[in-house]
Amino acid sequence: MKATKYVLTEKDMPTKWYNIMADMPTPAEPALHPGTGQPAGPEDFAPIFPMNILEQENSTERWIDIPDEVLQKLAIWRPSPLFRAHALEKALGTPAKIFYKNEGVSPAGSHKPNTAIAQAYYNKVAGTKKIITETGAGQWGSALSMSCAFFGLECKVYMVKISYNHKPYRRLMMQTWGADCTASPSNETEAGRSILAKDPDCPGSLGMAISEAVEVAVQDETSKYALGSVLNHVMIHQSIIGLEAMKQMEMAGAYPDVIIGSAGGGSNFAGLAFPYALDKINGKDIDIIAVEPKSCPTMTRGPFAYDFGDTAETIPMIAMHTLGHNFVPEPIHAGGLRYHGMAPLVSQLILDDIIRPVAVHQKDTFKAGITFARSEGFISAPECNHAIAATINEALKAKEEGKEKTILFNWSGHGLVDLAAYDAFFQGKLSDHDLPQEQIDAALKDIESYPKPKQAT
Ligand SMILES: *Cc1c(COP(=O)(O)O)cnc(C)c1O
Repeated sequence: MKATKYVLTEKDMPTKWYNIMADMPTPAEPALHPGTGQPAGPEDFAPIFPMNILEQENSTERWIDIPDEVLQKLAIWRPSPLFRAHALEKALGTPAKIFYKNEGVSPAGSHKPNTAIAQAYYNKVAGTKKIITETGAGQWGSALSMSCAFFGLECKVYMVKISYNHKPYRRLMMQTWGADCTASPSNETEAGRSILAKDPDCPGSLGMAISEAVEVAVQDETSKYALGSVLNHVMIHQSIIGLEAMKQMEMAGAYPDVIIGSAGGGSNFAGLAFPYALDKINGKDIDIIAVEPKSCPTMTRGPFAYDFGDTAETIPMIAMHTLGHNFVPEPIHAGGLRYHGMAPLVSQLILDDIIRPVAVHQKDTFKAGITFARSEGFISAPECNHAIAATINEALKAKEEGKEKTILFNWSGHGLVDLAAYDAFFQGKLSDHDLPQEQIDAALKDIESYPKPKQAT
């Protein structure tokens, strides 16, 4: 029998996270204060995040100890298995070896609990009583709800109203884990009330939900806000994926020529890729590919610029690839990939040619996910299907070129709560959307006057 699965035991779990900020070829540019435009210090973020998390956000220490309490909770499902996709290889007739790291085995069904657990723990230690956040389709909200339950914290989630109404299952997961979930825009906040006064039927957006969550978090010293992607500390927490994968690839006697992950804010991709990116910085030849939707092409068509992470313009500005914080993407089914910006660390590594971004069409991602399900069995989250589509492209390229190469991708989560999106695909209701340049230009107008990073594009 050919080996299919490479598993580690609890005692093989990494006990330190990897922080790529220690090894960046070009250091990331500083965040800027929203009012003054001057470099922002931890004190500017202090009403929003606890100090222990802010220390990590700016840390250049290469290895950071994972607290024992965090390891204990991660061990519920970690180490996650690494698979060799023999059946997919056969279905494609490719000489490429395909491996994938399965992050869908967490209780919430994605990689997001890797950072949610850590953030809940650090908040608990810092004396936070309640964490407030936003969620689109509900992946992040459900991961944080579970993690708050583990550490005895209250959890409040503002969920984009259209998802709240159309996607009840993740809302019910949050409720089951004890979180208080409200449809956004709501009457509970200044931000929500002013939106509803103008448009009572407003379906909501991630930007609006962030505004509501931040507004509530800063009102009370024992309440903090949490973000599930984009920021440096999230990239650090997700590095456990790549550190485990490196050991498992070694068990398989393989080393990847190509690494692939889907990228919304960049965290699951970075989690797998950053430990290998260090090898690339040190001279290894690896093609590291971040995959985004063509309808929200932050990395492939957005400039590297200073912008806000939220539409309310309340959190400090960060230098990243962005489509402008007022950009509203088409309602594609991969809700987790509809963010206007990209992690500053991923953005910087694109400028330094360590990471190569690609964009794929929505229908191709579902076709890829279905090919994967019919060969490997697992039904993937729509976000994850983007990584599979790019993997299949690379595997077919290897076939054309008659080249044996090794591909490793991150299977970021299962799609069992997203079957309505598959239904829409089967019924022919999904469309591919090539974003007109005018729409991008219009959204970028709003950030034109902002300070420019040194490597502005
Ligand atoms: C949220 C999510 C993503 C995208 O977020 P990143 O921060 O870019 O990882 C990808 N896949 C799944 C399953 C998700 O839930």
